Amino acid sequence: MKIAKNTVVTVNYKLSDAQNNLIEDGSQPMVYLHGGYENTLPKIEQELDGKEEGYSSVIQIEPDDAFGDYDPALVKVEPRNRLPEPLEVGMQFEGMPDATDDDDETMIFTVTDIADDKVVLDGNHPLAGMALRFELSVAGVRAATDEEIAHEHVHGAHGHHHGDDEGDDEDDEGDHFRSHPVH
Ligand SMILES: [Zn+2]
Repeated sequence: MKIAKNTVVTVNYKLSDAQNNLIEDGSQPMVYLHGGYENTLPKIEQELDGKEEGYSSVIQIEPDDAFGDYDPALVKVEPRNRLPEPLEVGMQFEGMPDATDDDDETMIFTVTDIADDKVVLDGNHPLAGMALRFELSVAGVRAATDEEIAHEHVHGAHGHHHGDDEGDDEDDEGDHFRSHPVH
């Protein structure tokens, strides 16, 4: 079966930066709904469109087509007491710290530094400003179900699970370049 709109594609991948430093070894395949649903990067869809199981390639995606340039304005220093305890570098918070921000998109802030009574929060995507090199290998293609098409994401193994919001986070590691389905 060829990859086309409304197929579910299983891709084994390895993600490196432009200098070939490994970012993610892709121990879990990416499984996404193909066809412009923003389940994965458009450049990946473009590369795989019309291909079949067994196809493999290496593509490099510039920051503009991935997670944009690094924006120093998104780095904020906040008093530590505004954040919950325990606090560790690498923790992420949603919608902090600028509730007054005029754009409605929820931002994810990552704690990048903790010093005495201050915390540094970075609202940049962890992969912002980086060119990304993907080794892709198509492991499977199937037709999407009507429900998957209606929800605009994949269900089942490696896909989106309903009714268990907590459990949804379990494979967030290594999931940086996939959008997270929101209902
Ligand atoms: Zn769904």
